Amino acid sequence: MAKKKLKRKKIESTTLTQDLQLYGRLLLYMKRYYIAFFISLIGFGILAASQPLLAKMMELITAAIQNKDVDARFTLPLYAIGIYFIRGLGTFIGSYFTSFIGASVIRDIRQDLFNHMTVLPASFYEMRSQGELLNMMTSGVRGVQELVTGAWKTILMQGMSAATLIGYVFYLNWKLSVIFLVLAPVLLALVQLSARKLRSIGRASEQQLGGTLQVAKEMISNLGVVKAFGATGYEQDRYLDALQLAFRLQMKTRKVLAISGPLLQFVIAFGIAVLVFVLLNPETLQTYTAPELIGYLTAFAMIPKPMRQLSSIGLAIQQGLVGAEMIYEIMDTPQEEDTGTIERDQIHGEICLDNVTFQYPRGNQPALRNVSLRIKPGETVALVGKSGSGKSTLASLIYRLHDPQEGTVSIDGVPAKEYTLENLRKHISVVNQHVALFDDSIRNNIAYGDTHYSDEDINAAIYNSYASEFIAEQEKGLKTMIGDSGLRLSGGQRQRLAIARAFLKNAPILILDEATSALDNESESYIKQAVETVMKNRTAIVIAHRLSTIEKADRVLVMQDGQITEEGTHAELLAHGGYYARLVKSEFGEKEEAPKLKYNTTKNITQHDSI
Ligand code: ADP
Ligand code: MG
Repeated sequence: MAKKKLKRKKIESTTLTQDLQLYGRLLLYMKRYYIAFFISLIGFGILAASQPLLAKMMELITAAIQNKDVDARFTLPLYAIGIYFIRGLGTFIGSYFTSFIGASVIRDIRQDLFNHMTVLPASFYEMRSQGELLNMMTSGVRGVQELVTGAWKTILMQGMSAATLIGYVFYLNWKLSVIFLVLAPVLLALVQLSARKLRSIGRASEQQLGGTLQVAKEMISNLGVVKAFGATGYEQDRYLDALQLAFRLQMKTRKVLAISGPLLQFVIAFGIAVLVFVLLNPETLQTYTAPELIGYLTAFAMIPKPMRQLSSIGLAIQQGLVGAEMIYEIMDTPQEEDTGTIERDQIHGEICLDNVTFQYPRGNQPALRNVSLRIKPGETVALVGKSGSGKSTLASLIYRLHDPQEGTVSIDGVPAKEYTLENLRKHISVVNQHVALFDDSIRNNIAYGDTHYSDEDINAAIYNSYASEFIAEQEKGLKTMIGDSGLRLSGGQRQRLAIARAFLKNAPILILDEATSALDNESESYIKQAVETVMKNRTAIVIAHRLSTIEKADRVLVMQDGQITEEGTHAELLAHGGYYARLVKSEFGEKEEAPKLKYNTTKNITQHDSI
């Protein structure tokens, strides 16, 4: 708690430099569009220049009335139309080109952000909820969008107008205009105050919106469970709670805005009141003509409008900066380490783990402890153990989803880190229990991430994974769209697509993580055969729940609490009568809490057997 407070304080005290840095970084995005920027400057420059002309027109009209100047009937209307034409032109050019810059910058930011997210390490995603991430991507960008399109335009358009008008009133009569110098600091202080308030609320508000998104996401993806457990009311309440918090924060923002707007106007009105009082004193009245005074007052009275607009972008700026903070939190996270240089066309598929210890960033104890193993090329190794014993974690180290804190993982005798990530992963296929499918055609799901495969390759992969039959039954065959996460397919069908994907990739190392655990009996026999075929001539690590798969493995590694505790063939381990034997006896049902025996693995067993 104390730590949290400290952190927040620090953020606020460095706000100004941080803000400037954020602006600077956003400006870098704009740099590319400098030509459009100059054109928009010209546009708004034209608009700003027309402001004093309007005031001048009031002066001319008053003069014409006073002097009963009939000729002005013809010149003044033309003058007016001319001014408004120029204003229109300026506004168009300025608005169009600032919008162009804004939309371009947002497109660039979105692309950079997405690209960066694809190369971030898994640990980044493990630290945050999906709702939080989606919110960072959507509302973070939306905030910046407001800043670079809306606010930027206002700054240019109204800022230039206000500046010209202020310059003009000083030019007309600097003595009278001095009142402005008194008002300016008061106005600035007000704007500054509300900006700071908005910023801190904005940050909290964004976080809360991420919360609501997470609740919604969970409800949608767990809909079946929500309904089955009669939890609709519970979810509604959960969402409402999250919404209410967000609502309260929003209202705080609105309150600050609702107060600061009128307050600003009041200060300005006060200035005008003083001005009128001074104008109407006998001395001034004698010095200046009525048209002059009216022209001056008109120009002065035109200042509050752009000023007000300027002050109202405080919210957009603050939201933009909050958005930029979110975006840069992602962009500043270093991408997964990819410093290796080795690229091999072919590998044999030998896998070695040497004294590997790994702990998840959020884990409170190591998921793997001093794990050493060697898998020969072409060997099939089954990883067996209770859930949570570290099987998936071990497998994930091989394709460097995570890097171990201690020890090394090597492939073909070369540390995995020395390969380029792309090359390393080219040699490894992964099939998980939760098949990752995309809302795309069956063909694109099988040839995922690579479009160069021929139809023949794809058909062979489908044939080998026993998927031909059900694909043929689909209305559009390979072109059938499978829906969000393969919604329109059964579990077994999804699994076979994943195996087809592995066939197609034809990598020498294959990782099957409980690929057959979620299947019904009907698909199981298919998948079993498919799995057996796909494992041939490859180094395979099979994390299995099924005895049939394990029996066929060349070697079984038993994992307990992040360590390999037994090792041998199925028969050897059974004969040994240890943890594995008990596990098999209870049919992997985990009914029995096995005592935590710690063997010094292989040697014991092999020695025992050879004796
Ligand atoms: P298995 O595949 O054998 O069921 P895992 O390798 O998935 O086990 O998990 C091993 C241990 O690491 C478990 O204690 C689990 O709670 C923990 N763990 C897994 N994934 C994460 C994660 N992303 N963050 C923190 N801890 C994790
Ligand atoms: Mg697992």
